[in-house]
Amino acid sequence: MIPVMRPWFGPEEQAAVGEVIASGWVAQGPRVAEFEREFAASVEASHGVAASSCTTALHLGLVLADVGPGDEVIVPSLSFIATANVVRYVGATPVFADIDPATGNLTAKTIDAARTPRTRAVIVVHQAGVPADIDDIRAVHNGLTLIEDAACAAGSRYRGRPVGAGSTVSAWSFHPRKLLTTGEGGMLTTDDPEWAARARRLREHGMSVSAAERHASGSTAPEEYTEVGFNYRMTDLQAAVGLVQLGRLPELIARRRALAARYQRLLAGVPGLTTVHDPAYGSSNYQSFWIALPADFPMNRNELLGFLAERGISARRGIMAAHLEPAYAGVPAAELPNTEWLTANSLILPLFHAMTEAEQDQVVEAVHAAAGI
Ligand SMILES: *Cc1c(COP(=O)(O)O)cnc(C)c1O
Repeated sequence: MIPVMRPWFGPEEQAAVGEVIASGWVAQGPRVAEFEREFAASVEASHGVAASSCTTALHLGLVLADVGPGDEVIVPSLSFIATANVVRYVGATPVFADIDPATGNLTAKTIDAARTPRTRAVIVVHQAGVPADIDDIRAVHNGLTLIEDAACAAGSRYRGRPVGAGSTVSAWSFHPRKLLTTGEGGMLTTDDPEWAARARRLREHGMSVSAAERHASGSTAPEEYTEVGFNYRMTDLQAAVGLVQLGRLPELIARRRALAARYQRLLAGVPGLTTVHDPAYGSSNYQSFWIALPADFPMNRNELLGFLAERGISARRGIMAAHLEPAYAGVPAAELPNTEWLTANSLILPLFHAMTEAEQDQVVEAVHAAAGI
């Protein structure tokens, strides 16, 4: 089977984990602090706060923004369900907005259509690694807190800078389905030193002094719990892997972009087929390579998934739409025609670092066969 995604590891990750185990300190400690500094620097953010996942980092972002009951948060329905779930975690109401079908992302216009006097924040997703037009959104929605769900977007670029640069708060994922992985893991980045300090306390039970700091200083002064926090910590085992993976990121992106360009070229002959591509203002890391089928394609999306599976190719349905799930029945939403079209007609093709051109040719030939060419 050709997998849809496979992480890229070498012996360096194994050695890094071995060193952490030998040190005797495996929970959040010096490796996490180092990973935070290096990751934040790579996305041109002043502060990085590691978390157990992107989901928990997004939750912290909403707590920092003081979003709660009675507030509405605009989110794309076209996203992994965590984007909407975190709004529920703080007791606020997610309001679904439509997307631009070319990028899969919210725009200033679609946000406008979902805005009400109760709107407090927007979670802007850089879907599948394609950067959203965040300057355009910032220009129009300066009264709202913009939280960026950059789960998929490590290494994507926007107007000459990394996605996340200049952002109020961004959340990142290191799940193996993304590019850079720590098994599970996430990060919150921000330029605000007070938000960063509060996020560090909140992810560690609201503790005034972290366990690692107390250990390093030898202090016996008891810690204080200034507010109700969470256990959203990353471990040093994960951060050690993350540091090695971060070093691999430029090579990961170069390879993915080369394979994506090859897909675009080889699939260009399929009439009406859309493939994900860079927007005019930035570049994608191609975390997922999605295609969308035209109405006159000889089979529907699910039939094509089955057709590919029979040929040893593991593809996936395109990005889900949260408003169609039972957990979100009855949640307010603007009209979502682009979301509904893209989620029904798109699928994600295999793309991973070690993918060979022969494997890619096999995928392309199968799509051609399905298209009858
Ligand atoms: C994967 C993903 C998440 C969740 O990331 P975790 O690290 O698994 O919590 C959130 N938002 C988007 C857009 C994602 O793709």
